[in-house]
Parts: sequence; structure tokens; C-alpha cells
Amino acid sequence: MTGPMPAGAPAQAAAAWPSASTRLAGVVGHPVSHSLSPRLHQAAYRALAIDWAYLAFDVVPESFEAAVEGAKALGVVGFSVTMPHKAAAARLATRRSAIVRRLGAANTLTFSGRQIVADNTDCEGFIADLRQEISFEPQGRRCGVIGAGGAARAVIVALAEAGASEVLVVNRTRARAFQAAMLVPNSGRVGRPEELDTADLIVKATPAGMLGEAGQTNSSAGESLVDSSRFGSGQVVVDLVYDPPVTEWLKRAAANGARVHGGLGMLVHQAAGQVELWTGARPPLAEMWEAVGRRANRP
Ligand code: NAP
Repeated sequence: MTGPMPAGAPAQAAAAWPSASTRLAGVVGHPVSHSLSPRLHQAAYRALAIDWAYLAFDVVPESFEAAVEGAKALGVVGFSVTMPHKAAAARLATRRSAIVRRLGAANTLTFSGRQIVADNTDCEGFIADLRQEISFEPQGRRCGVIGAGGAARAVIVALAEAGASEVLVVNRTRARAFQAAMLVPNSGRVGRPEELDTADLIVKATPAGMLGEAGQTNSSAGESLVDSSRFGSGQVVVDLVYDPPVTEWLKRAAANGARVHGGLGMLVHQAAGQVELWTGARPPLAEMWEAVGRRANRP
């Protein structure tokens, strides 16, 4: 198929894009129609002037293995992997990074000859976001994480690896909080909401406040477990929800004097990690931010 170059196609290939040499990558999830990954990746490929395309694939869990095998056979560069496939991606891979083995979850698959290589750029992406976007260094700091699902587990491991002195885990289901805290036995422990009052950094990794398909607050995501108006001056408060880029939960913390940061930054930086892994090039962060609206991320 050839045709007019879409916004996001490499500038040098304006005449007929895609071409017979265009390489393909994509995101696999279910659902995936609201993913920002195509925007982020295509912006990166355009800035790097490489003839690559990136598509979103809605794949049900029963078809995930077939999709991965098919992509490998077709010479696809790699997949970004999102819910609900991260654990299956880790299982299916023939090689796994240390962080994937620890988390049992992968957000990146790379097809390399006969190998399916699993990585997880969520951890490094989260820390890069803290350091580069808000100059927060986790080393020696007391950190709290609200939630114990996939995103929370990546953040818990990332903070411990970055040298946090303590990682408190606060979650609705206590048994899951214990499992998550045990990922980092030296610094992790289960905490109560009020113990977050003295943390340097609080990260909310639950879907409360997230917008649903029709742009409405997702009622199944529920109320947040912890009232953010208890946080204030001297504390950094992050909400991993990125739609909306600044949640009401973050606004309440900001109104009380806390420094707040939305979830777009982690999204941008985990995608940047994939771009670097696949292309070997330094990710064009400014263009990637532009693609998702950097200004929207500010309260
Ligand atoms: P998940 O694996 O389904 O985990 C959800 C977590 O939220 C669990 O700890 C769950 O508690 C808790 N939770 C859900 N509903 C709740 C409610 N009504 N009250 C209290 N706790 C509730 O989801 P996930 O993949 O970790 O994603 C969590 C959020 O992070 C989502 O909004 C997602 O969009 C966002 N996220 C952002 C990025 C980024 O790059 N910014 C990356 C990944 C995820 P239980 O254990 O009690 O069920």
C-alpha cells in the first residue's frame, strides 16, 4: 500500500509512504484505541528521520501468542506491550532482562532473529521522568506508593533500585500490598495512609480519577484510597494517571502546597526507552513531548 504521507511519517519519504523498506513496530493491548504510543513513537521516528511506522494492535488475550509469533515471522521490529498482556509477554519471551524476571512483566518485546527479547522500560522511564522533569532524586528519600498492581510494582522496584531509603506500599487489598512490598525486601514495607504524611515522594498508581472511553471519569476506577489534601509543602506528589494529564486528586495536593506531577512523563520516558532500545539512537524527547502536549502536564 502506498499513499499520501501521514502526519508522523518520515519527512524524507514524502513521495510514497510507506515504502517496501518501511519497518514496522507497534503497541499490543486490549483495549488499545486510546493509546498515545503511536503518537509518541511516530514523532520519534520522524525526528530521527528513519523510515519506520508504528501501529496499535487490539489483540485479545487468547490471540496474544499468535500475534507475537506472527510479528516475529513478519520481521516486525518490536512491540510495546500494555494491559492485559505484560505478564504473558514476559512468559513468552526467549530472553528476559533482570527487571522482567523480577517483576514477571514486560512492556517491550524485541524481535531479534529467532529470539523474542523482553524488557521493561517502565522502571527506568519512571526514574528518568523524576530526575529529568522535576529534578527529584530518589536516593536516600522516603517514598510511598499507593497501589500494588502492575504500574505500582514497577515503581516500587524502580524506587528501591534508585536507592530510596524506604518504600511504603499502601493498597486496598492488603495481601497484594505485602506481595508488592516483598519485591524489595530491604526497603519495602506495607504502610497505612497516614504514614504517607511524612514521605518525601508519594506516587499514586491506581486508576482513580482516570477518564473513560467517552471522556467521563471512569466510575469503575473508584475514589482514591488516600485523600491528597493531606499532602503539602515539601512533598512531591505524582499521579500515574495521564488522562487527564492533571487529575483532580493532584490539584487538591497542589492547592495544599505540594509539588505535583502527572503521568504523561512516565509514559514519554518509557517510550523513549523503547526508541533507544530499538534504534540505538538518543530519543528525541522534545518532539515526543510535543506529540502529547507537554504544557498539558502542568497544573
Ligand atoms: P492494575 O494492575 O489493574 O492495578 C490497579 C491498582 O489500583 C491495584 O492496586 C488496585 O487495588 C487499585 N485500585 C483499583 N481500583 C481501586 C479503587 N476503586 N480503590 C482503591 N484502589 C483501587 O493497574 P495498573 O496497570 O497498575 O495501572 C494503574 C494506573 O496507572 C492506571 O490508571 C494506568 O493508566 C496508570 N499507568 C500509567 C502509566 C504511565 O506511564 N503513566 C503506566 C502504567 C499505568 P487492589 O489490589 O485492591 O485491586
